[in-house]
Amino acid sequence: MQRKIIHLDADCFYAAIEMRDDPALRGIPIAVGGSAERRGVLTTCNYEARAFGLHSAMPTAQAMRLCPSLTVVAPQMGKYREASKAMRAIFSDFTEIIEPLSLDEAYLDVSEISDGDLTATRIAKAIRQRIREELHITVSAGVSVNKFIAKVASDWKKPDGLTVVPPDQVDAFVAALPVKKIPGVGSVTAEKMHRYGLRNCADIRNWSLFELRRRFGKFGLVLHERARGRDERPVQPARVRKSISVERTFDEDISGPAEWAPIIEQLYTHLMERIESAKAWNGITKAFIKLKFNDFTTTTVERVGTKAIETDFQQLLLEGWERRLQPVRLIGLGVRLLEEGDQISAPLPFSDSTPSAEV
Ligand SMILES: [Mg+2]
Repeated sequence: MQRKIIHLDADCFYAAIEMRDDPALRGIPIAVGGSAERRGVLTTCNYEARAFGLHSAMPTAQAMRLCPSLTVVAPQMGKYREASKAMRAIFSDFTEIIEPLSLDEAYLDVSEISDGDLTATRIAKAIRQRIREELHITVSAGVSVNKFIAKVASDWKKPDGLTVVPPDQVDAFVAALPVKKIPGVGSVTAEKMHRYGLRNCADIRNWSLFELRRRFGKFGLVLHERARGRDERPVQPARVRKSISVERTFDEDISGPAEWAPIIEQLYTHLMERIESAKAWNGITKAFIKLKFNDFTTTTVERVGTKAIETDFQQLLLEGWERRLQPVRLIGLGVRLLEEGDQISAPLPFSDSTPSAEV
């Protein structure tokens, strides 16, 4: 079956969020990053700044020399995470098969969507439009038959671009593709390839797999595949998390169990909320606690087959504390979850009770 993959990538994401939130930052060169005085580097810069040759990972001091009018804004990760979450919520209105690559970049597999005329291209357009309207930033998108070509395509007309490479155009698109556009080919590899006369994917096709492996090691196989427009890698949804935990560090050490009852109650409530919002009730396999003592040693105690109710945590904490009998700096409570592929072999702790009954 022909796959349909979309790669989405927000345009200068952090900088775009800053420009959105502060009109004074629009139309002038800006960057998000650390200050020059603190030997910071740029995380992202807008297109006005890129015109001066600025790019991410460049030391801020160097950027200021190239572009003296540059405005550098400190990153506000909370805002970016929030926008990222909102983007993902929009993606998930179209498919469950989402592989996030970073806060602002993801692959979507929409092969299975056969909803009338809702083609992959229409989905990409709809997502771009919704992000523009709801988040007031732009994302570029690439649509094609696999991850490799979708990713190259999303970069093709950046910023605010949409590039579709339909199946019958894959061969010609890839043949003309400069080698440095292949993900994984950095400037060093690109130079090496140029020395061998490999400028685009058509050139690579003239080399045997044997020869490519001899010159480029394991990556030779990737080059052999990509040069032919092939990429079998599936879009892998984010891995299920392995545990959920909460912890608290104290401003002043607490002496021990006599003092910690109200803290445990708060932490436990917080943990239950986290489990609830992750809808992880049915996946709990173990309860665990973590204690850090005033000498910075840490101990953890975990137990299978508990119901992960508050008294279980109290027992585990007592057990951990008795190992050292010292003042405590930090307390953590958590549960471990079934991992993907694990078999459910026994009734799970919460399978027959509701969260509200436990809290
Ligand atoms: Mg981006």
